[in-house]
Amino acid sequence: MAFEQPLPKSLSPSRLADFQTCPRRYQHASVERIAQPASYATAKGRFVHYVFEQLFALDPPDRTMAAARGFVPAAEEHILTTQVRSEINLDEAGLAQLLAETDLMIERYFTMEDPRTITSEGIEMRVGVTIEDTPLFGILDRLDRDEQGNLIIVDYKTGSLPNRNYDAQTFANAELYAALCEEKFHERPTKIRLLYVSQGETIERSVSDVVVKARATSAVTAWHKIKRYYDDGDFPATPSKNACRFCSFTELCRSQGVPVPPR
Ligand code: SF4
Repeated sequence: MAFEQPLPKSLSPSRLADFQTCPRRYQHASVERIAQPASYATAKGRFVHYVFEQLFALDPPDRTMAAARGFVPAAEEHILTTQVRSEINLDEAGLAQLLAETDLMIERYFTMEDPRTITSEGIEMRVGVTIEDTPLFGILDRLDRDEQGNLIIVDYKTGSLPNRNYDAQTFANAELYAALCEEKFHERPTKIRLLYVSQGETIERSVSDVVVKARATSAVTAWHKIKRYYDDGDFPATPSKNACRFCSFTELCRSQGVPVPPR
């Protein structure tokens, strides 16, 4: 079966993660572009990211906790649209919970760093490059410049902190962002900093040449497979408990005979 929709123009780190988890998920989300309803967790993530994005749009001396809290009403207006509210069944109690969790994350964030002292090269920075023949695109939360002049990739995380033995996946997206930055700016970021604002904890990892090359190579390999599956008209499903647990397409897959494990 040939797809009616064109092949996506580029591959982002999150879509690559979809593909690597289950190629059929990539087919549904990126090729067929089947809408995925918001969840409470995704809405909360966008809400908190919006607040921090606005905070960093201010001049450094103005980036205070009061200023961050001042962006919450605007986040309600921009992120909690009627559609999102209906998709996550947001009632009064749900809204109160989201506002309370956001307030706590703002408070914890200010124990992690002082945004008045931070120099950023970009906020919500859009980076598109081609590595070998693979078009890659991503939006970085922040690209900072530290006191030694090094580039640091900073990513806000509103979910739970991974356990202590961080698996390779924890840093995978950000490591691919490092490859994008190196290609775009001819300068490799030296560090990745993940800010788990829900717990007030930061985890960091140095960026090595080997890792950046490996991430870029695996994106190129995936893109070649994506093109092949697209031409075949079918992306294989690789159902598993882990892959299917957080997937929006379980009902669709079951209706197509994919043996999706029960949640
Ligand atoms: S439900 Fe499972 S098999 Fe289907 S697309 Fe999602 S991850 Fe893949």
